[in-house]
Amino acid sequence: MNLTRPFQRTTALFNRPSVIAQSSPIRLRQPILRYYASMPSPTVKLNSGHQMPLVGFGLWKVNNDTCADQVYNAIKTGYRLFDGACDYGNEVESGQGVARAIKDGIVKREDLFLVSKLWNSFHDHDQVEPICKKQLKDWGIDYFDLYIVHFPISLKYVDPSERYPPGFTYDGKHVVEGNATIQETWQAMEKLQQKGMAKSIGISNFNSQLIMDLLRYAKIAPATLQIEHHPYLTQEGLVKYAQSKGIAITAYSSFGPQSFLELDIKQAKDTPLLMDHDTVKKIAEKHSKTPAQVLLRWATQRDIAVIPKSNNQGRLAQNLDVTGWDLGEDELDAVSGLNKSLRFNDPVNYGVPLPIFV
Ligand code: NAD
Repeated sequence: MNLTRPFQRTTALFNRPSVIAQSSPIRLRQPILRYYASMPSPTVKLNSGHQMPLVGFGLWKVNNDTCADQVYNAIKTGYRLFDGACDYGNEVESGQGVARAIKDGIVKREDLFLVSKLWNSFHDHDQVEPICKKQLKDWGIDYFDLYIVHFPISLKYVDPSERYPPGFTYDGKHVVEGNATIQETWQAMEKLQQKGMAKSIGISNFNSQLIMDLLRYAKIAPATLQIEHHPYLTQEGLVKYAQSKGIAITAYSSFGPQSFLELDIKQAKDTPLLMDHDTVKKIAEKHSKTPAQVLLRWATQRDIAVIPKSNNQGRLAQNLDVTGWDLGEDELDAVSGLNKSLRFNDPVNYGVPLPIFV
């Protein structure tokens, strides 16, 4: 396990921001699904007023040497949303793929929805803008469509000129907590949106308690909440609460254990694959779809965005074809019934002593 880069495999819309006055109640708006002829994926309307594609491409564990080609090819296949992060260590290459697609006339910048995340080491109020600027420069763009607080954890600042991305450790060995509160971090995130560096801002890996607290001081409500979400971890209460507050949900690791096998995570090795599960396989056969498509449709049919990743062309195309056909209510319920409240992406599973999910 690599404590420095535990999340790496090898070496691991333009309207004015909807600012909500402090004194006024946060607007409660359910995400609304719309189909756009120019968008390969239907979009969900965020509380910021912008449209986010319901299906995107996740950039975690995409190797640096293939990343630019994978992004370029995904754009050619029809993907418009790319979910990146400082921590994935491949923002330069992701930007190169985007730049090539724009240069070749496949898309314009405004057709894309580029997402990145604020890493834990940069939560101090004064560090948020500089690191966002660096990430924009790495991508070669001048705004993110969505910029997300990756984890509700503040770690001690690491100078990017010394080690980047820093991972969970301060010095390559020790996990050292920082002092930033979520409130100071969120207020710095709001400034990013006000300055146009991010069109929407969001959160990830937050629970309901943190969201309730954040909404008390937020001038801009989070547009999205990105969480681990698959039939073994349905988090129905959290999904319902966030959606009731107008916060759109993005699911990560939609295939459950699959993504964590390559990281040698014990819980993943000990758990039957969702794609091999009889319930999922039978539903897939009935609809002439693959088990992977059923797992993704189970989310998108409930207005939950998905960001799967594949470097296999067939899978890349099939993962995009997860809207426009429906599962029955009984089928949605049968898949939800597989819930085991089993989480794979927990820092503790990577040897990081920060039990944020307990
Ligand atoms: P994933 O859901 O993309 O699953 C990836 C695995 O599934 C790979 O092994 C891939 O080969 C396989 N796969 C993909 N399509 C398939 C298909 N059609 N049939 C069979 N196998 C298929 O898992 P993930 O990478 O964990 O999550 C997706 C994205 O979510 C990440 O790339 C990242 O952008 C984001 N993410 C965010 C966080 C966070 O903390 N916010 C954490 C994890 C992931």
